[in-house]
Amino acid sequence: MKNISSNVDVVIIGAGPSGSVAAGLLVQQGLKVLVLEKQVFPRFSIGESLLPQCMAFIEKAGFMNAVQKAAEPAGFQFKNGAAFQRHGEYEAFNFEEKFTPGWGTTFQVERGSFDKVLIDEAEAKGAEVHYQVEVIDVVTGGSPSVLCRSEAGSEHRIECKFILDASGFGRVLPRLLDIEEPSDFPVRRSVFTHVRDNIDSQGYDRSKILVTVHPENEEVWYWLIPFSDGRCSLGIVAEPSWFEKYGDNSDVEILQTAISEDPYLSDLLANAIFDFPARQLTGYSCNVKQMFGEGYALLGNAGEFLDPVFSSGVTIAMYSADLAVTLLAKQFNGDVVDWQSEYAEPLGLGVNTFRTFVDTWYNGKLQSIIFSNAKSDEIKEMISSILAGYAWDTSNPYVADSRRKMSVLAKVCQSVYS
Ligand SMILES: Cc1cc2nc3c(=O)[nH]c(=O)nc-3n(C[C@H](O)[C@H](O)[C@H](O)COP(=O)(O)OP(=O)(O)OC[C@H]3O[C@@H](n4cnc5c(N)ncnc54)[C@H](O)[C@@H]3O)c2cc1C
Repeated sequence: MKNISSNVDVVIIGAGPSGSVAAGLLVQQGLKVLVLEKQVFPRFSIGESLLPQCMAFIEKAGFMNAVQKAAEPAGFQFKNGAAFQRHGEYEAFNFEEKFTPGWGTTFQVERGSFDKVLIDEAEAKGAEVHYQVEVIDVVTGGSPSVLCRSEAGSEHRIECKFILDASGFGRVLPRLLDIEEPSDFPVRRSVFTHVRDNIDSQGYDRSKILVTVHPENEEVWYWLIPFSDGRCSLGIVAEPSWFEKYGDNSDVEILQTAISEDPYLSDLLANAIFDFPARQLTGYSCNVKQMFGEGYALLGNAGEFLDPVFSSGVTIAMYSADLAVTLLAKQFNGDVVDWQSEYAEPLGLGVNTFRTFVDTWYNGKLQSIIFSNAKSDEIKEMISSILAGYAWDTSNPYVADSRRKMSVLAKVCQSVYS
């Protein structure tokens, strides 16, 4: 194993998207950055559908050439939107037709290879990266330090000026500092796998994630995220009690049965080959009491995770990394940073926009908007913008006043629909 530095400017816990974007941005500032990752890369991770807003951070971190190179030929799947299906009704959002300026396309990626491309780039640009090294303890405050353990069992303490926790569902600092808080969302479970999809339906659009509402329960939904190699990521999300009807079935059998319950999906996936283990995750929504403290800040899922329905996780992770690094540069420059008003609150603005979307998805309001013809092209572009990840653009009325605007629009759409 390479020697781990004992004194750096910033220690980053975890080499997922938030950790690698933070590392890439910090090395640009000439800072000494150490990334500690407990797994070996590439490793499986769920969360394969990116949003165009991500591309701005990939670009800013200096990773775009590597990502574009990995995207071709037949690497990452080009993505330009999101499609929704319910009882055979189909509505597609083209992310290039959106209110907020900026990237309108992105990729659907197998996270094993995507995350590796990002962290390899960060390392190539100067970040020190170690795998199979787990952070087991921290000291925060004025003289922060991190205690880590290698797979061989040796322990090592690293002094630093600041700790960025990018440990995702590892939630290292929230656990160690006892700042975890339950999410407002009910516990939900997801069962998922990758399949060889063999979709031969004429006109099927592989450049969009497909979100399908279960025909009998609007709170249950499936994702289908096509990759460029004829495979796709497939999953179903519901409250745990929903899965009781599948008895002792294996996760693959649960997925196959669930797919057979929706005529559109079962037609589409009639020839799919289930050749990969299925898994399940329960209770992934999470929150924290505070996003920062003296000597540390939380990035991405180490802070909060809402829900997978709008594929917002990686975007929020990268947004938090960019914002935190901007503030760290300021702080290291001797300026005073108010992490509440400059980090937690601005980050929370976009998170809350997505929160409104998630809430209104599950209470049916957003579904009635999506499947309604009553929305104008202008409004569709505003919704499209948020679905594309531009959830922080307060010039979009559905960001600035999202809860009220969504309620009003849902009423209009529901009255036209009924
Ligand atoms: C069912 C489901 C579907 C999803 N679908 C999507 C989607 O389509 N699109 C999307 O954008 N998001 C999706 N997400 C969310 C997405 O997976 C996450 O938001 C995203 O991976 C968060 O990135 P991150 O960098 O914060 O953490 P992660 O990507 O989780 O990376 C954290 C890293 O930290 C490492 N680590 C953990 N503990 C330690 C430790 N003690 N020491 C050292 N290293 C450690 C881990 O090994 C890991 O590599 C989904 C989530 C779920 C649950």
